[in-house]
Amino acid sequence: MSSSAQPLLNVRGLVKHFSMRKGILQREVGRVRAVDGVDLTLKAGETLALVGESGCGKSTLGRLILRLIEATSGEIEFDGQDVRKLGGSDLRAMRRRMQIIFQDPYASLNPTMTVGEMIGEPLMLHGLAGGAAGRKARVEELLGLVGLMPHHIRRYPHEFSGGQRQRIGIARALAVEPRLIVADEPVSALDVSIQAQVINLLRDLQRRFGLSYILISHGLAVVKHISDRVAVMYLGKIVEIADKRALFRNPRHPYTQALLSAIPVPDPKAKRARTILQGDVPSPLKPPSGCRFHTRCQFAEARCRVEEPVLENDGAGHSTSCHFWRQIPAVEPVKPGIDADPVLVKLQAFFKPEAMAAGRAARLASNGAGE
Ligand code: SF4
Repeated sequence: MSSSAQPLLNVRGLVKHFSMRKGILQREVGRVRAVDGVDLTLKAGETLALVGESGCGKSTLGRLILRLIEATSGEIEFDGQDVRKLGGSDLRAMRRRMQIIFQDPYASLNPTMTVGEMIGEPLMLHGLAGGAAGRKARVEELLGLVGLMPHHIRRYPHEFSGGQRQRIGIARALAVEPRLIVADEPVSALDVSIQAQVINLLRDLQRRFGLSYILISHGLAVVKHISDRVAVMYLGKIVEIADKRALFRNPRHPYTQALLSAIPVPDPKAKRARTILQGDVPSPLKPPSGCRFHTRCQFAEARCRVEEPVLENDGAGHSTSCHFWRQIPAVEPVKPGIDADPVLVKLQAFFKPEAMAAGRAARLASNGAGE
């Protein structure tokens, strides 16, 4: 995927705390530290995956970047503009260049509108594609881009399968020609075979239009096939960020190692030592002192309870937030004997070039309505 020297997106020290209030007087009883000092960059044409357990702040971070919610502090620079300072028409223009795709395609589509109305709506709002005839032609073009047919323009969301609804959501996002798309768990509600098709579509569109993606996912199996870099989040902070290959080959943070060890191995005869995380994720209302991961870390020492580690770059773009990342042993190699995960097996089979070509031919033969 292409990339330029200047980042398209530059996030510095981003913080979002939510006030918890109680009683008639709505007294503040605490603050949820949903995002607590995040730095990241994204280049044009790049895919950055945000990964972590539920409640780690990844979805909040995506919405902060799009300014769907306001940050408590920090900076967001997109395409050379300070996003947090924009208002009025500048903010509307910026929103056109950043779009979102939601996890649940059905909930994100208006059931009372036809596909043509839904995809045409952003065109109207932003004054694109001229009058009714121009808009219809553009909607039909967008439907074609996502593998749907022109006659789908008159149908309603309930007439489509889950995968087709996600394609409609993608067409709606594409309508305004964005540069960045935040995809929040875009395939987790879909069947396994459909997941692979939607991921493949996102990759095709990225190559075609030079899109940048922030892909939010709780699972590393999907991320492995589409991301360029991966940021692992824990309790509102990034604990490790690296090029995908570096992170999967040599995870350095004990939390990343545990997440990776939970990915089933596709070879039915292979087995990998699994790191089971102890206990639950602590409350973001009162995160642990020092390193936030110390309550679940098998390598924790006294220092970890009092001193917060910084995200340290190794000089090659692989950053880890752990006092002892140089000493933590590498994860054990894959060994024979565990059951294969059907999701991973199907995804891996799908991404073989010959399988991708066959899938594309099958979709064309079924006129994009075969899901
Ligand atoms: Fe574990 Fe300590 Fe490293 Fe945190 S700083 S990940 S507790 S070893």
